[in-house]
Amino acid sequence: MRNQFPDDDACLQYLFDSRYGGLKACPNCGVISPKYYRVKKRMSFVCKECRFQIYPLVGTIFEKTTTPLTDWFHALYLFSVSKNGVSAKEIERQVGVSYKTAHRMAKMIRILMHESGKLGFLGTPVEVDEAYIGGKKKQTDKDKKTPVMAVLEVGGHVRTLVVPRANSSTALPFLENNVRVGSMLHTDESKIYKHSRVKVVFDHKSIRHIAKEFVKDGVTTNHVEGFFGQLKRSLDGTYHAVSPYYLHSYVSEFAFRYNHRHEKIFQLLLAKAGPKVL
Ligand SMILES: [Zn+2]
Repeated sequence: MRNQFPDDDACLQYLFDSRYGGLKACPNCGVISPKYYRVKKRMSFVCKECRFQIYPLVGTIFEKTTTPLTDWFHALYLFSVSKNGVSAKEIERQVGVSYKTAHRMAKMIRILMHESGKLGFLGTPVEVDEAYIGGKKKQTDKDKKTPVMAVLEVGGHVRTLVVPRANSSTALPFLENNVRVGSMLHTDESKIYKHSRVKVVFDHKSIRHIAKEFVKDGVTTNHVEGFFGQLKRSLDGTYHAVSPYYLHSYVSEFAFRYNHRHEKIFQLLLAKAGPKVL
């Protein structure tokens, strides 16, 4: 990381190339295959033909920041290689910024990792489960914890939702937004999924954990439970206590990491931080 991005000039050049490198013509003078040169002491590049200036930081999370780009890139890198999340304390220590700055950076990077909008349906079969997060370590009372639902395509992506209560009324819209009608749906024996509509909309099969069943006739929820296991261990180990209000951003962070587990996450985060300009 330090080799590729030794200073802010290298970071800025990367952002210019990745955001504007594909320009076929100068947006100002229209010259084909435009050549741009770095403007010294400014965060901009200039067209050789018409002197039009492009500021690659405009419209990125780096636009108004006073934190050096190398520090931002370093923090993004930490998020990309971590399995268990990155605390503000760790950014403070590793990047060498104040705790306040580290906290703000982490918050913005987590926003990049939140994927929303039309994400499309998951492929079949899908596993669905819910977990209860937060509260004191030994607290087992579900009322003191925040429920999170997850639906996971085996070998594919996971989608998550933090809900005020885990029940059929919160589960059904979540499922119908993410799972195509008629898909195979695997759950445990929870009564949340015993709602008659689940049977009508999906090809629903459940596993009886209470009878020590974990895989039966190809029906299992082991994958989605694995996702929750990783999430809980990380929240306990790295973040210690997360308020219900912020929980969704941490859950999104882990879903992002899971969904892009076969990709180069650092490059992906840089592309999210500074999206390509057409
Ligand atoms: Zn031009």
